[in-house]
Amino acid sequence: MLLAPELLDRIRDRAAGYDRENAFFTEDLQELKEAGYLTALVPKELGGLGMSLEEVTREQMALAGAAPATALAVNMHQVWVGVAKVVHDRGETFMDQVLTEAAAGEVFGFGISERGNDLVLFGSTTEARPDGEGGYTFHGTKIFTSLSPAWTRLGTFGTDTTSPDGPKSVYAFITRDGGGFEIKDDWDALGQRASQSCTTVLQGAHAPAERVVRRLDPGPNPDPLIFGIFACFELLLASVYTGIAQRAIDVAVATVGKRTSLQHDGAPYSRDPDIRWRLAHAGIALDGIYPQISTLAADVDSLADHGSMWFPRLSAVKVRATETAKDVVDAAIRVSGGGAYFNRSELSRLYRDVLAGLFHPSDDESAHSAWANALLGPVPD
Ligand SMILES: Cc1cc2nc3c(=O)[nH]c(=O)nc-3n(C[C@H](O)[C@H](O)[C@H](O)COP(=O)(O)OP(=O)(O)OC[C@H]3O[C@@H](n4cnc5c(N)ncnc54)[C@H](O)[C@@H]3O)c2cc1C
Repeated sequence: MLLAPELLDRIRDRAAGYDRENAFFTEDLQELKEAGYLTALVPKELGGLGMSLEEVTREQMALAGAAPATALAVNMHQVWVGVAKVVHDRGETFMDQVLTEAAAGEVFGFGISERGNDLVLFGSTTEARPDGEGGYTFHGTKIFTSLSPAWTRLGTFGTDTTSPDGPKSVYAFITRDGGGFEIKDDWDALGQRASQSCTTVLQGAHAPAERVVRRLDPGPNPDPLIFGIFACFELLLASVYTGIAQRAIDVAVATVGKRTSLQHDGAPYSRDPDIRWRLAHAGIALDGIYPQISTLAADVDSLADHGSMWFPRLSAVKVRATETAKDVVDAAIRVSGGGAYFNRSELSRLYRDVLAGLFHPSDDESAHSAWANALLGPVPD
């Protein structure tokens, strides 16, 4: 593992303070940069550590077990670098700039989500206005932009309505130095507080031609960029929430070893059959998630072909991992008793953090719709 236990311990020690203060994880980010973690997915020949997506899913689980919000926000950077690796591995170079810039120390934010936009990647309410030289300016509002205080590059997309052959979804990277955006100081959420996922108002932020990576027809698209975003986003996100669940089990195991029962002559709850069953049940549920993440990530790494089942499978792993994580943290809280309800308890923070898994794409509805279409075909008009 790249992330050493001592580094993870320091990150864990800071997590409660960031959460309480609603503060960004500045020190964690610095240490992760120094460890080379932000270059993990950059191929060695381009100056990175050359790790596989499968390896990074395990690192993300470990990081999330130490500090969920740090892991979730760093995830957004790893997603873009992962997308660039996926595209590079498939013989295309249009995302290579992301790899070389990540190797040079740039931090990538993920400026995709918009209010009330359930099309997610299949259409944007942001305007992408051509600059006449192959570049674009972006006008619109992106919500939940994690890493807000720290990104130096923001991958975003908007719609160009000026094209004679119909609207185009334009994917590009803007730079922090280039300006043309406002970051609102509006992140005060139930959980994942250190992620500082603030609203970003794009007010003409400019991406010159060389930072425009794709112009695609809106709607479902087999383009390697879209495949890369789905693959890396769903798998790395599933890893974050799986890491939270594993940590909840570890904390619960320690707690029930200390909590004693008057009814059973002061015996620890770890000997109580109901508590044992409940924790075992959580362990069994979580145990099934690891191979699913690992197998699909290895399939992305090895360029395996799942054809039209890629999207249903990727959405399924995200939904199953985040839903399981929520149930596992719930079980950990139940066996740990009222102490877990105090804000000073790590479990109470994990309980708040794990809930965010519900809101990320793919949501339950879109995953079920993808599977219903795969199994039954689309509903005729
Ligand atoms: C902790 C966390 C971190 C995240 N980080 C990122 C990130 O880095 N990058 C990224 O792109 N996404 C990020 N996301 C966004 C996430 O993936 C979802 O897009 C987001 O949760 C919105 O989901 P939704 O569609 O359910 O929200 P919506 O239902 O769209 O609600 C979002 C907000 O918009 C308001 N709203 C809803 N509909 C309308 C409307 N028609 N008009 C006006 N306002 C409306 C709602 O009241 C709410 O305040 C993050 C989410 C979370 C929870």
